[in-house]
Amino acid sequence: MSDAIPRVVIVGGGFGGLAAAKALRKTNAEVILIDRQNHHLFQPLLYQVATSVLGPGQIASPIRGILRTQRNCTVILGEVTGVDSDRRCVFVDSVDREGVIVEYDYLILATGASHSYFGHDEFERFAPGLKSLADAVSIRNRILKAFEQAEAEEDPRRHGDLLTFVLVGAGPTGVEMAGAMAELVSRALRSEFRRIDPTSARIVLIDMGKRVLGTFAEKLSAAVQRRLEELGVEVRLGHGVDRIDADGVIVAGERIASKTVIWTAGVAPSPAGKWLKAATDRAGRVRVQADLTVTGHPEIVVVGDTASLEQDGRPLPGVAQVAMQQGRYTGALIHRRIGGKPAPPPFRYFDKGNMAVVGKGYAVLESGRVRLSGFLAWMAWAAVHLEFLAQSSLRVSVFVQWVWTYLTGQRGSRLIVNHHSSLGVDARVPSSSEHQPTAER
Ligand SMILES: Cc1cc2nc3c(=O)[nH]c(=O)nc-3n(C[C@H](O)[C@H](O)[C@H](O)COP(=O)(O)OP(=O)(O)OC[C@H]3O[C@@H](n4cnc5c(N)ncnc54)[C@H](O)[C@@H]3O)c2cc1C
Repeated sequence: MSDAIPRVVIVGGGFGGLAAAKALRKTNAEVILIDRQNHHLFQPLLYQVATSVLGPGQIASPIRGILRTQRNCTVILGEVTGVDSDRRCVFVDSVDREGVIVEYDYLILATGASHSYFGHDEFERFAPGLKSLADAVSIRNRILKAFEQAEAEEDPRRHGDLLTFVLVGAGPTGVEMAGAMAELVSRALRSEFRRIDPTSARIVLIDMGKRVLGTFAEKLSAAVQRRLEELGVEVRLGHGVDRIDADGVIVAGERIASKTVIWTAGVAPSPAGKWLKAATDRAGRVRVQADLTVTGHPEIVVVGDTASLEQDGRPLPGVAQVAMQQGRYTGALIHRRIGGKPAPPPFRYFDKGNMAVVGKGYAVLESGRVRLSGFLAWMAWAAVHLEFLAQSSLRVSVFVQWVWTYLTGQRGSRLIVNHHSSLGVDARVPSSSEHQPTAER
């Protein structure tokens, strides 16, 4: 790199990368943000796209649009495939070129996480996970198609497995999905079908742990389980799934026949640790130092879901707040270095608390010693989620949609959209002998 103006390359325009880019807006540097998607995604509301509450365009914004007024930042659509830390460059597959070399003076890796099937990658074919907009639309298609197929199916004996929905993993995503699905069948779909009764749909939430929302206080977990059961969700705890196939799942030796299984369990970090050949934790997250840099590389910083850092003897969780605070810290760190100022004190995460929503008007909230469940927590949940959406247009649109859904029970986006097919082939739910689980992706 020339010594004219330093270049900061940020890989990932999620919560961490975007916060870092914004924190560098007044820095005398060329900032290049590379993301394989053209949009910043608000993952906490993905389940609402998967359950038809919101449309994809309501929870994501083009990164280029968000940073349009930041003159020192260039946004590149491309997938980073590796890092050469000796040559100080990253390799990028862009829209029409492979292995493009982009040099850096400072590198921020904020590449997030993907699904983990805990060593059972064969489950993925039958149980898609929820991580991207494409995943959410694909799951929405599957859920809506299952109802369509059941309505078209004359033989009522086939309705059972079509109308059984299994969610594997009772963390926040599984719990929120289960609550939203229960409301979908009991309110939005209830009067629209003639041959089937959508309210007879079975929603099963499975987790190998002893309680739902295992990271929350026991009292809140118990309250959430009660609430889910009131909504008609079958909660099965204490056993993981032994098998997932085209006919459903096997849990504790029992087969649950289902055509729609959704994976809401583990996540695995991006391969940033492999790119850097750096020390990682057991999950594969890059172990970073107290200032979030990689040992031996003060010019490389890793933030968010892909970084591993302990605070007060406990690893920081993979949540949006950690990623945003780390992104902001990193921007400030590099800003000071470029300006020749002393380094800031080590990074410290300020935990504002955790929340999860369970259907209409009910959430749980845990912040310090405050533990809340019910409508008040739901109001807080709604306010916080609106506040953190990337743009004001999304805030307005989501707010209006939520009010409408709250008052009428109607969902905002119930279209079955087959992006990759105009032939109608993937409008079918696969049978055991003919499985096409990823056809709509
Ligand atoms: C369904 C779901 C619900 C969640 N709910 C909550 C919640 O309620 N509250 C909460 O705090 N957290 C929640 N989280 C977790 C939270 O979203 C993450 O902790 C947060 O997104 C991490 O931020 P990040 O910047 O590390 O990664 P991300 O926000 O995931 O961003 C990573 C970015 O990097 C890009 N990228 C990845 N690899 C490459 C590559 N090779 N080249 C170029 N670009 C790349 C991706 O396209 C993406 O834009 C949820 C997550 C999911 C999946």
